[in-house]
Parts: sequence; structure tokens; C-alpha cells
Amino acid sequence: MDGYHLRGGCHCGALRIDIGLPRPPETYGPRACDCDFCRKHGAAYFSDPDGSLRVMVGDARFLGRYRQGSGIAECLLCTNCGVLLGVAYREDERLYAAINYRVVEGGVVFGEAQPVSPKTLTANEKVRRWKALWFADVALVGDSA
Ligand SMILES: [Zn+2]
Repeated sequence: MDGYHLRGGCHCGALRIDIGLPRPPETYGPRACDCDFCRKHGAAYFSDPDGSLRVMVGDARFLGRYRQGSGIAECLLCTNCGVLLGVAYREDERLYAAINYRVVEGGVVFGEAQPVSPKTLTANEKVRRWKALWFADVALVGDSA
């Protein structure tokens, strides 16, 4: 696609990401979730329903999925190096996801992080929000798990 191409991944390289964005990265203010888990990782997420996301799993043994909070989304982590890649939600074979902006490489500059508090939303409100904001039709490549 036209637009902006971003790369990144975990520290050890087991999990890699390829992202296409329709707008410059600095126009995205990563959403800093205030739940205990995300705060402990210092994570903040960006996404674009009009963008594209591929997650390349080099070694499926290291794709960790951790559910917390309401448990309807899963945090994607590298179980080898411990990096939190992002968060994903699956519905009807469609995979939605948002990426922790800290895993993007190459000195990409994002907008100012903005605090969000999804824990105050109901499960239905969360799912509606994710479908509106997250990357859709995410490709998880090489995941045999
Ligand atoms: Zn890793």
C-alpha cells in the first residue's frame, strides 16, 4: 500500500512486525492503557483500521498469549525475550490488533501518548472500540500454534 511503512519486533527477533499506515506516524498518539499490566510494561498502543499489520512468527514456541483484565483480548508477548508486542482480538476468523509503539524500530517518531482507561468500559464497549480503532485482518504468518 502507499503510505508509511514501519518495521519492528521483539528484542530477540522471534516475532517481527510489518506495518503500513496511511498517515505519518507522528499523527498517531499512542494510547497508554492504565491497567496494571500495561503500566508495568510501559506500553502504549497505536493502530489504524485503514492500515495493515503483519506479524511474522519466526519461532512459534515463543509466541506467548496472555489474557488479563476482562480476558477477551490477548496480549502478544515474546516468551523468549519478554517483549510485549501488542494486543489482539479474534472474532469470526478476523484478527484485530494494536501494536505497542515501543517495539517499532528505526527511530520512528510518534505523536504524544494519550492516557486511556479501557478497564472502565464494558466488554461490549471494548469490542466495539477495538473494531473501530485497531488494525483489522491482521496476518499472523508462520504461527502453527
Ligand atoms: Zn523475543
